Amino acid sequence: MFPPRPQDFVTRIAPSPTGFLHVGALYMALISTQLAYQKNGIFFLRIEDTDDKRETETGVADILSWLTRFGVKIDEGAIGENGTEIGNYGPYTQSKRARFYHVFAKRLVEKWLAYPCFLTEGEIAEIRDSQAAIGKIPGIYGNYSPWRNESCENVVARIEAGDPYVLRFHAPSAIGSRVKVYDEIRGTIEMDDNFLDTVLLKKNGIPTYHFAHLVDDRLMRTTHVMRAEEWLPSLPLHYQLFRAFDLPVLKYAHTAQLMKIENGNKRKLSKRKDPEANVAFFFEAGYPVLAIKNYLCGIFDSGFEDWKMKNMDLPFSDYVFDFARMPKSGALFDLKKLDSVSNIHLSHLSNEELFAQMLDWTGEFRPELHAMMIAERELAFRAIGIQRGTERDPKKFTRLSDVEAYLAPFLRGAFEALKSARGSIALPVPKELAIEVVNDYIEHLDLEMNANDWISWMREEAAKFKFARDGAEFKAGGCVGKFGDYAMIIRVAVAGGTNSPDLYEMMRALGADETRKRLGDFADEMHNR
Ligand code: GLU
Repeated sequence: MFPPRPQDFVTRIAPSPTGFLHVGALYMALISTQLAYQKNGIFFLRIEDTDDKRETETGVADILSWLTRFGVKIDEGAIGENGTEIGNYGPYTQSKRARFYHVFAKRLVEKWLAYPCFLTEGEIAEIRDSQAAIGKIPGIYGNYSPWRNESCENVVARIEAGDPYVLRFHAPSAIGSRVKVYDEIRGTIEMDDNFLDTVLLKKNGIPTYHFAHLVDDRLMRTTHVMRAEEWLPSLPLHYQLFRAFDLPVLKYAHTAQLMKIENGNKRKLSKRKDPEANVAFFFEAGYPVLAIKNYLCGIFDSGFEDWKMKNMDLPFSDYVFDFARMPKSGALFDLKKLDSVSNIHLSHLSNEELFAQMLDWTGEFRPELHAMMIAERELAFRAIGIQRGTERDPKKFTRLSDVEAYLAPFLRGAFEALKSARGSIALPVPKELAIEVVNDYIEHLDLEMNANDWISWMREEAAKFKFARDGAEFKAGGCVGKFGDYAMIIRVAVAGGTNSPDLYEMMRALGADETRKRLGDFADEMHNR
């Protein structure tokens, strides 16, 4: 029914439909899709929805849409229109696969390798207490498992009486045995073998991860299981399960846990505490997709960053990933580093491309700003390009979301908000002088001058009002203020605040009329202060 596949590389991602895509899962999807592409393999999506509590209505759709945005190409799964399935190895959703789990379970029971266990919660607690009292490892195993070797009659009688039970694996190894397992990233590892009679089917007949993974990955003909490092300790159990079915074990690659540094200590990136564990965070924060991709690949393949720096223009798909270059543990996730990768990435985009991406970002997360950018498109576009890539501002933007603060002094609607907040800015000179300065500026403003002439002119204008032209003049004394104080008055008038992009470029982008209007409004405002 599910014949071997012709491909040598078949892998998958298997998220729960919580709508939450962990950044580690995204990384795995990126690598998997790339490896599958390079090896003419298959990459499919399986939805692990056996834990009802964790589902959300749009969970699967959200995950799919994020993966799609990152260019992850999924070959099979419930990925068609309205969730229809594509591929011959389904169903690709665990809740639709009960019959498979049950067939496999029966097989193990027939071989005496799994057994129904009727222990109640209370009885399990008692066993654990008795183990703890004599310093034994707690759990259901060996002689501590009363149902392990129970007679068939007794078991059948309990089942017929309708008593609830779980199905437990009859672990073949005893406490203290060791086993060698193989991981594609770590090579051969020797570890403690599994001795616990792990639950395979819960009381409601739903499989645990360990069992479902065997059934699904076997029937779906997975060749490589890529999953998080947290599953590595379960690998001996998974080897035992495959052997119990006389099946060859799969190839496993456990990707290093993402860590972050907090107060000087490394700790696991936490789904609860760290917003950046959720892929949704990166979109809202304004990181461009390719920067996130580049950053993640840099963490997980030690050769990637160098390659990327040398081949800025080659597509991601040209890079050949290799398990051998992947970290074995503790991969450090650092938003500052992501900022720098993002900054470099954005600095390579054309003005047109950057502007288009900023429009997309505001369209999704700042609809009002988006509408303003459309309404004053030419101005917005020109503003973005100011000094971009020149010596004075080589790496202008770090995130797409920088557009919000950056464009505020340019766009009319956004400028209004800055204006209404500037009342609290203390001016370096009495308001009467500020009004004189501004009125004079309106009269003599000439934006046809080049930047050098303009700055010389500004200094002379400043001198007219007894501001120092430069530091030396200020030191000599007798001035009402520094040249910077003079410029600040103009800046607050034109840009609405004490920080702004280059004033000359800004005024040129706004045009003389708008600039004069802003200066005039500021003078009026000063009168009423
Ligand atoms: N649902 C499991 C998880 O999210 C899948 C692990 C696997 O890929 O096998 O951890």
